[in-house]
Amino acid sequence: MIFDTHAHYDDKAFEEDRVELLTSLPDNGIGNVVNVCASINSLKRILPLTEAFPYVWGAAGVHPDYAEEMTAETLEEVRQVSRHEKIVAIGEIGLDYYWHKEPENHKRQQEMFRAQMDIAREEELPFMIHSRDAAEDTLTIVREYMNKGMYGGILHCYSYGVEHAREYVKMGLYLGIGGVVTFTNGRKLKEVVGEVPLERIVLETDCPYLAPVPYRGKRNCSLYLPYVVTAISEIKNVPEEEVIRVTEENARKLLLQEQM
Ligand SMILES: [Zn+2]
Repeated sequence: MIFDTHAHYDDKAFEEDRVELLTSLPDNGIGNVVNVCASINSLKRILPLTEAFPYVWGAAGVHPDYAEEMTAETLEEVRQVSRHEKIVAIGEIGLDYYWHKEPENHKRQQEMFRAQMDIAREEELPFMIHSRDAAEDTLTIVREYMNKGMYGGILHCYSYGVEHAREYVKMGLYLGIGGVVTFTNGRKLKEVVGEVPLERIVLETDCPYLAPVPYRGKRNCSLYLPYVVTAISEIKNVPEEEVIRVTEENARKLLLQEQM
């Protein structure tokens, strides 16, 4: 069954039908979902969701957009939440220079990124990285941490080129692929998907964002992942069942720490 490695069901976009939607997933081929923290507030919202559904897991972390609001207490909260038995990763953490241009802010983002990578290392959890317009700095920090020894991780919503993709694959990391691969202007990502072995790809929605074609621009949810599966199967010329099977195995190994 499909493993959605990156969703935000605590978002207010799901206020009206969250329970019905999450309840309907297993009957529609979605076997597991990781609900990923984005804001500082979502640290408080994810645990009840993971407790209500056996197939919903969580990731604890704070998105770089909130780097300036983060304090030592926030980091302590990330650590405490990460120790809950349904929390399977630290994320989403990383760098976003698209929305923030000031050098001081970039410095703060890097500090908070490193501090949360430290938590991932100490708690022996995989990391989930958000990176936008920060290709070089992300690669530098990830490489530094992989050299220190990390459990593993995912480059969520991978948006850079083939060169960096090869570097991450060499480090044993996974690329999170979602709706963008179905976009007609997603040529760069299609090239990356063609290049990277299926053994290094995991599926993700990033819902409510980035719905695949034909729902582009609408609210996304895990039920639309079959469109992403079709796109990957066409690019790589492998059957859809194999895309689902291998990406699920990848996610189970990394996130549920299952031996396969
Ligand atoms: Zn996300």
